[in-house]
Amino acid sequence: MKLLIKNAHIITPYNILHNFELAVEGNKIKHIEPSGILYDKDFDEIINAKDNYLSPGFIDIHTHANSGYDTMDASFEAIDAMARFHIKNGVTGFLATTRTASTEETKKAIKNVVDYISRQKQNVGTLDTSSSAPAKVLGLYLEGPYFSMAKKGAQSPKYIKNPDIEELSNFLKLSGDNVKVVAIAPELPGAMEVITYLHTQGITVSAGHTDACFETAKKAFDHGVTQVTHVFNGMKGFTHREPGISGVALIDERISCEMICDGIHLHPGAMKLVVKAKGKDKIILISDSMMAAGLSDGEYTLGGQRVTVKDKEARLSDGTLAGSTLTLNKAIYNMVQMVGVPLEDAVRMATLNPARAIGLERSKGSIEIGKDAVYMAKMPGKMLPGIFIFFLLILMHNILTYVHNNSKMVLKLMNICPI
Ligand SMILES: [Zn+2]
Repeated sequence: MKLLIKNAHIITPYNILHNFELAVEGNKIKHIEPSGILYDKDFDEIINAKDNYLSPGFIDIHTHANSGYDTMDASFEAIDAMARFHIKNGVTGFLATTRTASTEETKKAIKNVVDYISRQKQNVGTLDTSSSAPAKVLGLYLEGPYFSMAKKGAQSPKYIKNPDIEELSNFLKLSGDNVKVVAIAPELPGAMEVITYLHTQGITVSAGHTDACFETAKKAFDHGVTQVTHVFNGMKGFTHREPGISGVALIDERISCEMICDGIHLHPGAMKLVVKAKGKDKIILISDSMMAAGLSDGEYTLGGQRVTVKDKEARLSDGTLAGSTLTLNKAIYNMVQMVGVPLEDAVRMATLNPARAIGLERSKGSIEIGKDAVYMAKMPGKMLPGIFIFFLLILMHNILTYVHNNSKMVLKLMNICPI
């Protein structure tokens, strides 16, 4: 199948290519050219992007739940509902994220995600005729249970424990090679050994829910931690006499910072500080979404704890933030609107940077020749001809557009191919 997308502004990790066209052959990007170079007659299908922006699909590596379902539900229905919600918000791939729970619950959740992934793999190449094809589950992110009680946030204190390498290796065995990120507090007894172990297994280690001081954090980074979990949230804060893990994460060039850019977890000033310190390469936008994402305000649960969502803020009864109701398209919007980050940089933080964090940057995360492409455009009432292929890259549901409005940039999401 040969597809031509015409009259698009193509967002690459480096710039925006205005008035360009893009050709897909099979499931790969074949050509990226200025408008008018390629001939319509050479293609089976043509989509006119009508001067809209073409973005790579977003990759959310830290998302627990949405639309009333949670990874910890450990059911096919839950993961499938989450995947179908993600795609509506431009997320084409995500890591199903666990939270601190009992060993048995964690195992069930891991096994369920692995089963879902293998079912998705079996369906590669089959046409999805439903109203919205699901996003691809790219693996698992284990958030917990080896965390600091002092920085537990909404993680269940009942199950927080010191690192247990035997238990962890059982989780990894159960997952096949599907665990991509493990979050751990590096100051705990035995943590450095676990960090080295994970690092040698090729698994990304993220320091999270941690009270680590500056020196311990530095040591952890030397042992193979390459990322911090939702920077500033659930970690020792910055002070000028003891900069803590937040401080060293900002200044160590090896470290990527996950950010929850909902304007609630981080003040826009703090978001700007992270951008100044880390640049466009070392920031990963995440949703850290809980089950109320996509639903209205109200009462929800999180690991048996009651959560109240009011004005999109999810909090435990003591006021602790309990995940977010954010989606990555909104996170990109916020980075542009609240921080003034160029659109292509904000998109990179939700595409190429997360792809790199989980070792998929060679095939995903940017619109570049040779990378994976997925043809998933749908016209009202029918699927366009062509085979639906997983390994999504080109995002056709939501095209990011921005217009100048009284010299203020307004970024909005627009469906050029409504479903
Ligand atoms: Zn989380």
